Amino acid sequence: MIYPGQPIPPLLGEPWPEGVVYRALTVGWATTDVVDDQTPEGDEWATHVLSARCTGHNCGFEAGGSDWQTFKFHAADGPPREYVAMRFQLQTEAQRHAENCRAMRRPVVEEENASAAR
Ligand SMILES: [Zn+2]
Repeated sequence: MIYPGQPIPPLLGEPWPEGVVYRALTVGWATTDVVDDQTPEGDEWATHVLSARCTGHNCGFEAGGSDWQTFKFHAADGPPREYVAMRFQLQTEAQRHAENCRAMRRPVVEEENASAAR
């Protein structure tokens, strides 16, 4: 529950979640994020799954995450052209969504979490 006068965590100064490679601010002060979900495969190889999602509560915007948006490459080689193109495509989708989305983030109430953990 949100009580009047409770501070809402500042959005711009907070650290980005793991894997976020692009973040657009929505009209409703949520964010639309492009995420590179990496799984190490050993010897500096990794699988990268590209997806996008909105942090607006119950917005439901999601894109990517399919097999054809999954790439495996060596850290020394850097991302292949197809990865860069897919990331740019998802960034464009995320940007387009952010320009119109008015769903707000659901604020995290610290006191409630703290009392629930006790
Ligand atoms: Zn949204």
